[in-house]
Amino acid sequence: MTDPLSRRSFLGTAAAVAAAPSLDARFPAPAVIRSSQARYAAVASANGIRGVTKAVELMTQGADTLDAGVEGVKIQELDPEDMSVGYGGLPNEEGVVQLDASCMHGPSRRAGAVACLEGIKTPSEVARLVLKYTNHILLVGAGAKRFALSYGFKEEDLLTPRSREAWLRWRANRGRDDDWVDVPAGQPIGPRPTGTINLNTINAKGEISSVTTTSGLAWKIPGRSGDSPIVGAGQYTDNTIGAAGSTGLGEANIMACGGFLTVEHMRQGMKPTDAALATLKRVLAMAPPRLVDERGRPRFQLEFYALNKAGEFGSASFFPSKYAAHDGREGRILDTAPLFPR
Ligand code: ASP
Repeated sequence: MTDPLSRRSFLGTAAAVAAAPSLDARFPAPAVIRSSQARYAAVASANGIRGVTKAVELMTQGADTLDAGVEGVKIQELDPEDMSVGYGGLPNEEGVVQLDASCMHGPSRRAGAVACLEGIKTPSEVARLVLKYTNHILLVGAGAKRFALSYGFKEEDLLTPRSREAWLRWRANRGRDDDWVDVPAGQPIGPRPTGTINLNTINAKGEISSVTTTSGLAWKIPGRSGDSPIVGAGQYTDNTIGAAGSTGLGEANIMACGGFLTVEHMRQGMKPTDAALATLKRVLAMAPPRLVDERGRPRFQLEFYALNKAGEFGSASFFPSKYAAHDGREGRILDTAPLFPR
């Protein structure tokens, strides 16, 4: 009987392993063609139109892709009028604003995140500190706050008069059988508001980063974390392939690891928009029946934003929507590719 792995063939194998090209070279991104002219680009949820412009401006001045992305999303975190992110974000059912954020830095292959962070206006900056200065990836709740305070962040009331009023109105009108007297509303309470900002960046060297930050679902159960601080769900970067992130119903996205899956779809050769559409199909396939209507359509909205190593970008959503993108020349609001008509 011959030795299945003779010394000769073993040595040959060992030599082949030693001489093997790097992992990246052995598993190259098949259909992603590096543009001959390197370019800056940024793609984000529609509320990121100022953010993509800021991010590209900073990158062209030499800023790192993650730093540029964080500066981009901070515009929304600090804007009291954006009730989906940071300061002025809608609170949980007890009226407490709990913020989630995560980020990834492609070149250094690092990630950082915070969940249920209270009292700090810019969770994206705290997530970046977790990435830069710890061996951890996700800090939550009181520990995340103490971590932020140790770096000199100021604890502040994140409710604005407008977001407090929206919460009080929700509490007063949430059910007929509760002990809160209904408030006759000038305007009826609308659908449960959601919102978030995801922003993905690439610079002229092909370095990629992603960041997502949110106040999460309005009126959520205290302690609930959505997809935004979950690396692989709310955002994901592989510096050899691209980046992707999401806004919309976090629970549905977590089930499909949508950020990661979208990057994997790009690894298989799909363009960013097609990759995002393929992810939405998987999310729907994984969604529990109560989230799907009788026609097989989702009862919720979810959107993905993606860019690849060539600086190409795109976005897809269950139902028609908008997104923000900057191609290195100008920032624009564009239509997402919807899986279903409205
Ligand atoms: N994805 C966020 C969450 O589930 C909410 C949103 O994007 O609207 O917390």
